[in-house]
Amino acid sequence: MRSWLVCAYPYPYEAPVSQNLFTRASLVTPGGVNSPVRAFRAVGGTPRFMVSGTGPYLTDADGREYVDLVCSWGPMILGHSHPAVTEAVMAAVARGTSFGTPGEGEVALAEEIALRVEPVEQVRLVSSGTEATMSAIRLARGFTGRAKVVKFAGCYHGHVDALLASAGSGLATFALPDTPGVTGAQAGDTIVLPYNDLEAVRAAFAAHPGEIACVITEAAPGNMGVVTPAAGFNQGLADVCRENGALYISDEVMTGFRTSRAGWFGVDGVKPDLMTFGKVMGGGFPAAAFGGRADVMGHLAPVGPVYQAGTLSGNPIATAAGLAQLRLLDDAAYEKVDAVSARIQGLVTEALTKEGVAHRLQTASNMFSVFFTEDEVTNYDEAKKQEAFRFNGFFHSMLSQGVYLPPSAFESWFVSTAHDERAVERIAAALPAAARAAAAATPEVSA
Ligand code: PLP
Repeated sequence: MRSWLVCAYPYPYEAPVSQNLFTRASLVTPGGVNSPVRAFRAVGGTPRFMVSGTGPYLTDADGREYVDLVCSWGPMILGHSHPAVTEAVMAAVARGTSFGTPGEGEVALAEEIALRVEPVEQVRLVSSGTEATMSAIRLARGFTGRAKVVKFAGCYHGHVDALLASAGSGLATFALPDTPGVTGAQAGDTIVLPYNDLEAVRAAFAAHPGEIACVITEAAPGNMGVVTPAAGFNQGLADVCRENGALYISDEVMTGFRTSRAGWFGVDGVKPDLMTFGKVMGGGFPAAAFGGRADVMGHLAPVGPVYQAGTLSGNPIATAAGLAQLRLLDDAAYEKVDAVSARIQGLVTEALTKEGVAHRLQTASNMFSVFFTEDEVTNYDEAKKQEAFRFNGFFHSMLSQGVYLPPSAFESWFVSTAHDERAVERIAAALPAAARAAAAATPEVSA
């Protein structure tokens, strides 16, 4: 029997092996991590160094097991170490790990993507979501001959220079870089607008006639917490772009093949000119893609003038993993993920309500997150107004009881087909104490 009943670790609690690894890591790697959010800076404490994953569970270097509600930030929609994915990967490894030539696996993966997502007539494989959005923007600029890009505050599209920019106040404000290392020139053609504000988009097009190459948006944002597009917002973006000769790019790196068979496109049916994918389509390996209208994709090298390339693009292991995962993602799989997600959402709501904690649970299909506020969150400014300090106590209580949440109040939670009754029960058992911790939290205590 799984020994998760030992989950009543005293809180605060120790993780000596992880702590030791973190100390070592911090000497050789900035902040001890290879992607900032993993460092637990938002919630404090020691990041857990994971050594293995099976189904809905992760095991850390101290030998503690957690129900995983991060799922590698989305990709592991079948849970960890799914036998069919593992088998496909092992078989691919045995055939050789990289050829630098075309291979059948990448054709099959491209076909699978195009089959599922109708607006994708052609697709190019890359190795990360960042590369996908960066390439899609270059292509949009090359295709239209225009420079400016519209993005929305709170939407994350990877660490693309031009997209690491936040809004000043007012409409159509030219973005200032929000990280050193991005020059004013790189961010200067980026226009950052409030999410869900179609009037702001229309105003930007009116202010810059013939200058805007594309609008890029998360199909349903999950990077400021989950904020669902208002009814008609995505269609409005598509329409405004078409009316103005710009391209509409739907970033489905997070939502793609997760929120439905066809990602968010399968939910709202709005047809973009270009789309970007990552996460689920790589089955836990570095694979991503961008694709869309064949006439636009035809501007890419070697048929067109817009250069784009990659040594490991279409890597045979990554494509084998992605293909194996996608082939298992039928309607029944999505029903399962949706159902377990709804169940967990209900439990979270129940626990927080019982403790009188003001909260708002927001969803985009099976993606969801909790905002510690009473009000609906429709954009980034509203998301930032939540009582994020409550999340820290909530997070650490869950962690101490063996439930691994994203270590930030501004991230989506993810579940998988492997989250079974036992995993759900364990979450249910942990929630009352976590809700009490959220209720008791004060800004001073968490600071
Ligand atoms: N686009 C979206 C919507 C994302 O959520 C992310 C990553 O979380 C990216 C792009 C960047 O993907 P990657 O981290 O693979 O570069």
